[in-house]
Amino acid sequence: MAMTGSELRQRFLDYFTRHGHTVVRSSPLVPAQDPTLLFTNAGMVQFKSVFLGEEQRDYKRAATAQKCVRAGGKHNDLENVGRTARHHTFFEMLGNFSFGDYFKDEAIEFCWELLTGELGLPKDRLKATVFTDDDEAFELWKKHAGLSDDRILRLGEEDNFWSMGDTGPCGPCSEVHFHQGDHIPCAEEQAGRKCLGPACECDRWLEIWNLVFMQYNRDASGKMTPLPKPSIDTGMGLERIAAVIQGKSSNYDTDLLRPLISHVERLAGKRYGADAEHDVSMRVIADHARAATFLITDGVMPSNEWRGYVLRRIMRRAMRHGRMVGLVEPFLWDVTKTVVEILGTAYPEIVEAQGRVAAAVQQEEERFAATLDLGMAKIDEYIRTHGRSVQVDAPARDPVRAASEARGAVGPAPTSKVVDGQFLFTLYDTHGFPTDLATEVFEEKGWTVPKEAMEKYDAEMEAQRARARAGASFGGATDGEGSVEIYRQLSAQLPKPEFLGYTEMATPARILALVAGGRRLTEASQGQTVEVILDRTPAYAESGGQMGDTGAITGRDGQGTIEDTYYRGGHLIVHRVRVIQGHLRENQEVAVSVESRRRQGLKLHHTGTHLLHAALRRILGTHVAQAGSLVAPDHLRFDFSHGASVKDSEVAKVEDLVNEHVQANIVVTPAEMDLNAALQSGAMALFGEKYGDRVRVIRIGDFSTELCGGTHLEATGQIGLFKVVAEGAVAAGVRRIEAVTGEAALRHVGQEEAALRESAGLLKIPPLELPQRLQKLLDEQKQLEKQLRELEARVAKGRAQELAASAKVVGGVSVLSARLDGLDAEGLRSVMDTLRERMSSGVIVLGSAMDGKVTLIASVSKDLTKRIQAGKLVQETAPLVGGKGGGRPDLAQGGGPDASRLDEALARVPGLIERWGAV
Ligand SMILES: [Zn+2]
Ligand SMILES: [Zn+2]
Repeated sequence: MAMTGSELRQRFLDYFTRHGHTVVRSSPLVPAQDPTLLFTNAGMVQFKSVFLGEEQRDYKRAATAQKCVRAGGKHNDLENVGRTARHHTFFEMLGNFSFGDYFKDEAIEFCWELLTGELGLPKDRLKATVFTDDDEAFELWKKHAGLSDDRILRLGEEDNFWSMGDTGPCGPCSEVHFHQGDHIPCAEEQAGRKCLGPACECDRWLEIWNLVFMQYNRDASGKMTPLPKPSIDTGMGLERIAAVIQGKSSNYDTDLLRPLISHVERLAGKRYGADAEHDVSMRVIADHARAATFLITDGVMPSNEWRGYVLRRIMRRAMRHGRMVGLVEPFLWDVTKTVVEILGTAYPEIVEAQGRVAAAVQQEEERFAATLDLGMAKIDEYIRTHGRSVQVDAPARDPVRAASEARGAVGPAPTSKVVDGQFLFTLYDTHGFPTDLATEVFEEKGWTVPKEAMEKYDAEMEAQRARARAGASFGGATDGEGSVEIYRQLSAQLPKPEFLGYTEMATPARILALVAGGRRLTEASQGQTVEVILDRTPAYAESGGQMGDTGAITGRDGQGTIEDTYYRGGHLIVHRVRVIQGHLRENQEVAVSVESRRRQGLKLHHTGTHLLHAALRRILGTHVAQAGSLVAPDHLRFDFSHGASVKDSEVAKVEDLVNEHVQANIVVTPAEMDLNAALQSGAMALFGEKYGDRVRVIRIGDFSTELCGGTHLEATGQIGLFKVVAEGAVAAGVRRIEAVTGEAALRHVGQEEAALRESAGLLKIPPLELPQRLQKLLDEQKQLEKQLRELEARVAKGRAQELAASAKVVGGVSVLSARLDGLDAEGLRSVMDTLRERMSSGVIVLGSAMDGKVTLIASVSKDLTKRIQAGKLVQETAPLVGGKGGGRPDLAQGGGPDASRLDEALARVPGLIERWGAV
């Protein structure tokens, strides 16, 4: 039997372990130190600062199996996923890395030995590519692989040159390609040209491994200078190499993905391979279930913003494809179970998060179901009403479509079937149907969404935003571009400041740099606010939810107040300082101290947060995971994943459990350890934290163990008291608890107690009797309200009696028109009901003015409606008070704004009856 995907992953890591590499855990999909990057999309992401020389690790060779997501952007078009054999949103990248250790020689040797020796790929089916003038790599392939000259291709910059950005490390690459066979279709050959081999877009030669030789440093002018210690970064997609090893022509047929398709087959009762369009849908669901599982595990939740939006797009696309294979009930959450079965051993975090993932996916499915059905119906309707134009054959737009068309899967795209941007906008704005999804649906049905349509859509969106802006106020100023740039430079020049704040509250230090307005200063004087970087500091920079420290900084000829502390440029601790006297200068020796009262408040609430997190997991279940946290000096806020609402009794239990551990006065032990050791010891890893080699673990007895860089108490007893002050929902599947500890908790309890005492004082009873007494008062109030209603009804009846007596006879008909100010429509109707009981035959019109508004009600007894209609009476009289009305022949209602003419309107009634009623 061929090697499984899991065996392959392990063989790769074992091979490099034998060759002196340290196996490093996959970093989370949400990049910890690069807020500009959407998702981790390559193995090198977690080593970026090591490659840049900003960070040292205690190994020089590493190997990883890295989880990656590529969705949208230049790397991957979401629309292609499912339509091809190789596109994925989620995939695993195997890689080996050298940080200034070995270079091209060993990199090529390792690569060749692993592919042909370990994995047993036949040499005659492999070719290598090198950068145009990389003679060194060319010779090394001959030396290690024994490849003849014609099996080593020289390719240009577009294919075989890599750079980290416009400036910084860069260098040539070299790739290995595997020959799958010439029976595979090639677009070049179909067009009458020759297949380009490894350089061709077709699948005959499959790129399986890319080796990057980081050889140069490029400066702003574009000049490249050789790096003193060149590095290696390689990447091999696991799904791809698994397909090659297992002899499958599609990644989806490997054991890494095929079980997911089987799961969909079972749910849908359809067979994979029976219908080309259904096959696409099954592949889409298989791929997207993996992405959703891993993204939610790493803390991304579906939302309308950035990362959350990409996840939502992926999930919604899967749901639509579910509909296409007949799955109407939520199904994607069920498929995530198979993802865990396949990949749970390699990535234990998805086992831990299993329940939370399924709940979040199911909730999103339920939420979107109605929108999806309505949107699809609207699109079908649009296609029916706008699609009657002549069919015109147009050339296919892309090779993917060309391939599907060749198989007869997608019809030709007639140019006359063009979607209007206004329709897309309405679909989104009114029905909430995502535009990218709509575009995809239209394109599948052979329609075009032209550039003009999207421009029209954008114009509508912009107008919408302008309307929204007109009603909103402007926010505060943000850091300028200059600030980002200066800290990028400083982080490359300055050493990482030493943080002493776990043990020290004050220390001597040296000023390394002063920055203001995006520029470096040599000194700052009284009245100025500057950002100060020190070589060492006791001040904690805002991170992990804990707010930054404040404090003081004192030099020989000046002093300043530290107003806040935060990170800039990755690892620089920056103090925002207001100079209150004299000068602060670069290179000056100073004394730095942290404001201890505020710090104590932060410690109380941070340790309280850890206790709360642990208590929530005990009371609500281990699916509870931190989704956000704020630690302030006087309160804490903790967001966590939980699918249901939290009962009052559960909140009380959580609070009690925390206070139990406060009273037990448990020692808080911080320890530095190896990440793997920490995870094995059961520490909860928070997403978004950087997994360096050495991590700080905070242990509170056997109750709580967390990876955390924050500052904590020595023992839990210092908390004194823990009080939850609020609990509620913040987003789908995310709850928030706000709580206070220590002095703030006592203050909170004190305020509640004072309110209680004041209330009891008003009632002149002891506070503990309040609940019963209030219940009694509420019951009494209900009783009184009932009596009042009865009384009002009796009064209305009495009035009706008086009124009935004032009826006149006009033309043989009893007519009553009267004004009853201060009654609303309901009051008038109740009087009317009583009058109708008393006058078996006749016409009644009642009017009332209240708060400048007139209400008119007319009633005609059944024996008279042939001649006189209530509706007509109101139509004739309401215009006099500036309004209108109408109704049935026996009962009608109307009104208007002009109370000054109500008497006139009522006075008209007898005349009208006389006119209509004459026999
Ligand atoms: Zn080709
Ligand atoms: Zn913490």
